[in-house]
Amino acid sequence: MGSGDSKITGHIINGEYGLYSDRSQAIFNPGTGEEIRKVAMAGVSQVENAISAAEAAFPQWRDTPPAKRARIMFRFKTLLEENADAIASLLTQEHGKVHNDALGEVQRGIENVEFACGAPELLKGEYTRNIGPEIDAWSDFQPLGVVAGITPFNFPAMVPLWMYPLAIVCGNTFILKPSERNPGAPLFIADLLHQAGLPPGVLNVVVGDKEAVNALLDDKRIQAISFVGSTPIAEYIYTTGTAKGKRVQALGGAKNHAIVMPDADLDNAVQALMGAAFGSCGERCMAISVAVAIGDEVGDQLVSKLKHEILQLKVGIGTDNNNDMGPLISRDHQKKVSSYVDIGVEEGADLVVDGRNLSVENYEGGYFLGGCLFDRVTRDMKIYSDEIFGPVLCVMRVNTMQEAMRLVDEHEYGNGTCLFTRDGGAARYFSNNIRVGMVGINVPLPVPVSCHSFGGWKRSLFGDLSAYGPDGVRFYTRRKTISQRWPSSGVRDGAQFSFPSDK
Ligand code: NAD
Repeated sequence: MGSGDSKITGHIINGEYGLYSDRSQAIFNPGTGEEIRKVAMAGVSQVENAISAAEAAFPQWRDTPPAKRARIMFRFKTLLEENADAIASLLTQEHGKVHNDALGEVQRGIENVEFACGAPELLKGEYTRNIGPEIDAWSDFQPLGVVAGITPFNFPAMVPLWMYPLAIVCGNTFILKPSERNPGAPLFIADLLHQAGLPPGVLNVVVGDKEAVNALLDDKRIQAISFVGSTPIAEYIYTTGTAKGKRVQALGGAKNHAIVMPDADLDNAVQALMGAAFGSCGERCMAISVAVAIGDEVGDQLVSKLKHEILQLKVGIGTDNNNDMGPLISRDHQKKVSSYVDIGVEEGADLVVDGRNLSVENYEGGYFLGGCLFDRVTRDMKIYSDEIFGPVLCVMRVNTMQEAMRLVDEHEYGNGTCLFTRDGGAARYFSNNIRVGMVGINVPLPVPVSCHSFGGWKRSLFGDLSAYGPDGVRFYTRRKTISQRWPSSGVRDGAQFSFPSDK
């Protein structure tokens, strides 16, 4: 990183590093609670500089052949692979997740770069010869111009890689505003893309908070915004951005239900649920936070097996790969998640495993919380309606799959869901009818691979197109249809006053 030897990390604007701002904010290691360094917070002038750089870089970048753009992405992919361990270490340091989990995040990010390497194929237009007398037509997919991406804290490496590799190979220039809580990995990765040969100004990174976000929303030169974060902010970005004439896709929060049928392989389901509920400390938008048991017999067995597993969870510093779960992102978030456990008890749910008083030896300053399990959660409870975003799993009990599906359908979020069953008919019915964007059948985290697209339904996604994959190509380009006539010499038409048609 250009500013690697400084205590303050800056932005990357027009290929230059360390352009500091008046404001800065401390970054903490969630595993130790210690301040790592300070990070510069962009104000309006830094954001405007970044937009000007992106605007100036656009004409030449737009006219760079897709294959040349893709070649930079190939080099970028290699550099990401070579530096995966260093990126994962930064993620562990600033986010807290366990190193192996962080490596998985980096790999899923790289897969989006691999998809973007297909730009020459992805950007092929559509062509029809002879739509009329000596007239041919084609549709072309052209870049939008300057595009912005605003990303959350929980996947600091992967979520930016959902966005800018594709936006850039499509011919756009880009401003990334990563989460101000852990900008180290996104800055490091953006530096690798410059090492891969990206011209200055094509990708700019401004670190900041809502001041920077509002500057992006306000600037007419920003054509489109991709946002990933919590639902209230996603809705704000979508309504404000679209009112200002921008194209917006805004991915929000989630409450993902797993439904456990009486015919499911219960031991497998329990193992799958453990990873999906407690991996990355539950700070994943696809984390399973509700397990719905069909029938009390399944409920009793599920709770007893989950309890056994949760009591074995190894919680500790993310640098130790023997741990299953690291800390939460901040002291405030730890308190918030913990207070949800208090609320659940007050609401009358059965707290089967209480992780609130966990202390990790030698890391007493870290933001740790043990795994928590509630049984007999009901739909009127706040611990059910709200996204908690921590290691808290709620078990609910219903009598039929239809009843479970009604719960899922009537929840405000519709990001992911999973059905555990051995019944193909039930699985087919479920996946056909459930009102959720990403569905797993015995797959607890059905995060689409990069050649598909990622997006929830209902209040988990504002906008018409999902992130990355084929929808990403459509989001970052606009269709232009050209009808072209080259009349044979000597052919002269008179004025035609009726609407042109092929009759
Ligand atoms: P967040 O909404 O607090 O922040 C996301 C981004 O918005 C950050 O860059 C932040 O700086 C900016 N921001 C925050 N407050 C703002 C404000 N008032 N005005 C303008 N910008 C603002 O989210 P987070 O806590 O970083 O991330 C966790 C959330 O993200 C969870 O709700 C999770 O479900 C969601 N998430 C969703 C997906 C998905 O694909 N649907 C993926 C990852 C995370």
